[in-house]
Amino acid sequence: MRNLLIVILVFIGIWWARGALRRFKAQGGLRRKEARPVSAERMLECRHCGLIVPESEGVRAGEDFYCCEAHRSAGRRAG
Ligand SMILES: [Zn+2]
Repeated sequence: MRNLLIVILVFIGIWWARGALRRFKAQGGLRRKEARPVSAERMLECRHCGLIVPESEGVRAGEDFYCCEAHRSAGRRAG
């Protein structure tokens, strides 16, 4: 009779641990998904005005990077 009680307690323990682990994994997965796009985008400085913009929003001209098309045609800032 005592053994049966222990078996039931062990089953309840396993069931509870599985539920807690699933909740913990779900929270961790969600947090990782949210953090991903922030770190993926590279920030670069405009060669003309010095503004820092995401790489996808700016314009590239060889080695140089500019915040917009107007600054790309204006070229590097003198001095
Ligand atoms: Zn600029």
